[in-house]
Amino acid sequence: MPTDQPISSIPPVESQNITILGATGSVGLNTLDVISRHPERYRVFALSGMTQLELLTKLCVVHRPFYAVVAHAKEARAMQNWLLEAGSDTLVLYGERGLETVAAHPQVDTVVSAIVGAAGLKPTLAAVNAGKKILLANKEALVMSGALFMEAVSRCGAILLPIDSEHNAIFQCLPVGYGGVLADAGIRRIVLTASGGPLREMPLCALYDVTPDQACAHPNWPMGRKISVDSASMMNKGLELIEACWLFGATPDQVEVVIHPQSVIHSLVDYVDGSMLAQLGNPDMRTPISHALAWPERIDSGVTPLNLCAVARLDFEPPDDTRFPCLALARQVAKTGGTAPAMLNAANEVAVAAFLAQRIRFTQIPDVINTVLDDKPVEAANDLEVVLMADTSARLLAEQWLARRAN
Ligand code: NAD
Ligand code: MG
Repeated sequence: MPTDQPISSIPPVESQNITILGATGSVGLNTLDVISRHPERYRVFALSGMTQLELLTKLCVVHRPFYAVVAHAKEARAMQNWLLEAGSDTLVLYGERGLETVAAHPQVDTVVSAIVGAAGLKPTLAAVNAGKKILLANKEALVMSGALFMEAVSRCGAILLPIDSEHNAIFQCLPVGYGGVLADAGIRRIVLTASGGPLREMPLCALYDVTPDQACAHPNWPMGRKISVDSASMMNKGLELIEACWLFGATPDQVEVVIHPQSVIHSLVDYVDGSMLAQLGNPDMRTPISHALAWPERIDSGVTPLNLCAVARLDFEPPDDTRFPCLALARQVAKTGGTAPAMLNAANEVAVAAFLAQRIRFTQIPDVINTVLDDKPVEAANDLEVVLMADTSARLLAEQWLARRAN
């Protein structure tokens, strides 16, 4: 940075205390990679993980958080003993209360919300209600409870920064101080790019036999297994469409989805004067994570610079509703609103888990979701209890569908 001041007079960067919810996952580990590059800026305050306790223990030994959070009391006791033996003074908490404690702790500045699925909703809301800076990867939380979530963000003065790569790209392409109304900023629409996943070119008749490993073999992004299956079905883009509506004040019709197999353009904003602004980069989650961690500054993320000549060409095509029925289902529930997105999300989580456990075929994922959406009336989602009830009953209906199939 050019400066005429002697180095010693530059004020030190204020260090931020960071809680990472879902630290053992793909987004969590990428966040730790970025944080380790900037020890003067970031201090790990708490790490959580539900499985892979050995990995979580190792992360605690390396990053020395004040707290770790696991799922149950028994695991917390075991991990506390391992940590004591390793000379670590990290305190191990457990369960929903433990997650909410580290999300809302007065000493925490920033919470990275990287738990997968509906389990991320309550701890993320705890961070929102405590007025934290939240780096949101857990799109399911926003899909389930968008209106309540966004209302709490503004009431509690929380700062919500998207680290889902598409939404982070859009955030970067919006005017500074964007007020939440597309038309006021001269924006016509938002364009979400999608890689199309690993099954984009597979003959339709072969989708019936797709295995979990095939569905998880994403061509551009290494990710957790749930989001990888969602990418293969394009439900991920459907959830992201709903996420974009809440984050940027768009209607479903103002969000277009375009398949872009190279995953170099992470999304675009289309302005009324004919300008389209895009954010480009190598597909690496450390870019959106670094951007949101340091915002409004920029820091090194460790990501290799994009070589445009090596990329050479960028392709685009419209998504095919026959191949990707989940995307159309998500667009439909985005328009319906109320508890419909929470039900879609819950049914999808059950269906994806069943597919990964080889209980159903890949092509049956939309069947499970359709059954739940057809069976359950939609209510207004203006109360968290209503949303959680819709989630629970949608899971029950989906499980009943699976049980009927098994008999
Ligand atoms: P992952 O499966 O790799 O990791 C999930 C993390 O959540 C793990 O730490 C796991 O222990 C924890 N977890 C799982 N179930 C839990 C539960 N019931 N209670 C508490 N903790 C639980 O997932 P991921 O790929 O890192 O994705 C995390 C979130 O980020 C998802 O919502 C996903 O949609 C979103 N996201 C991921 C990526 C990516 O590149 N992986 C990109 C954009 C958005
Ligand atoms: Mg994404």
